[in-house]
Amino acid sequence: VGVFYRPLEKIGAVVETYPKGIAGFRRYRELLATEPDIADSPNAIPAPPLKGDIRFEGVGFGYSADRPVLRHVDLDIRAGETVAFVGPSGAGKTTLLSLIPRFYEAQSGRITIDGHDIRDLTQGSLRAQIGIVQQDVFLFAGTIRENIAYGRLDASEAEILEAAARARLDGLVASLPEGLDTVIGERGVKLSGGQKQRLAIARAFLKNPPILILDEATSALDTQTEREIQASLAELAQGRTTLVIAHRLATIRHADRIVVVAEHGIAEQGRHEVLLGQDGYYRRLHAAQVGDVWESSPRTAAE
Ligand code: ATP
Repeated sequence: VGVFYRPLEKIGAVVETYPKGIAGFRRYRELLATEPDIADSPNAIPAPPLKGDIRFEGVGFGYSADRPVLRHVDLDIRAGETVAFVGPSGAGKTTLLSLIPRFYEAQSGRITIDGHDIRDLTQGSLRAQIGIVQQDVFLFAGTIRENIAYGRLDASEAEILEAAARARLDGLVASLPEGLDTVIGERGVKLSGGQKQRLAIARAFLKNPPILILDEATSALDTQTEREIQASLAELAQGRTTLVIAHRLATIRHADRIVVVAEHGIAEQGRHEVLLGQDGYYRRLHAAQVGDVWESSPRTAAE
């Protein structure tokens, strides 16, 4: 618990109070994405600018020794590829992706990026090159400017404005008397779900990482907002290695590759049409899918 709470003091008040459960834990870790929590090896080197070729070689992981989540996962992702991860709830999609920024350490096998074992890179330099956009956006009490620039405190006004525009947050900023200096949170302006997501996207544009991890929203956004956010995310994904936990059929169809995570590993992978043609998990998941939302039991917004 000590490790959990310590860095909060540095950040100050957190708008969204420290949330419950696993999702909250993830969000918290993302907030601290520059805080090393797994010790860097003494020989760790700063990561050079990465292209984003990601390789899992025989990776095994479990949160406890008696319950493996992933067993001997092999996966090869090319730089610039967009890969959609699908599979039953609890299968390990989030777990698999959280090994890449080293929120957790693989217990066997290894993960390399551009040939570097990620354990040989300093965490700060690794995480500086990975952008994460999740459906439950974490924000801290402060201005819109500070929230966008989080993780890139050296950003100029022009860069922040550009990131806001690309995330389609500029309309909101323009409508507020104090613009970027508007305080958000409990004591300031409350942002809607869609505005929070746009802010997270602006943050990712500003960070400009070669690797992007997206956890696609299942929570209710109106259709128009949803479309706009999808469009911003698609633009954000351009030219980056993008790994998305996908809930929208449109995302899945357009991905370069679909990876089905099930039964402690990768059950199937390939393009939509190919997987649909096989009598496997993907076809069954597809058949079970309701409406445009992929999972038959999507997570709730509150999770
Ligand atoms: P969903 O689509 O529901 O988010 P998922 O495929 O992303 O599911 P994970 O969240 O990776 O699945 O969870 C895989 C397994 O690991 C589940 O059994 C889950 O309960 C467990 N798990 C996830 N995070 C933790 C944690 N921090 N501590 C202990 N167990 C965890």
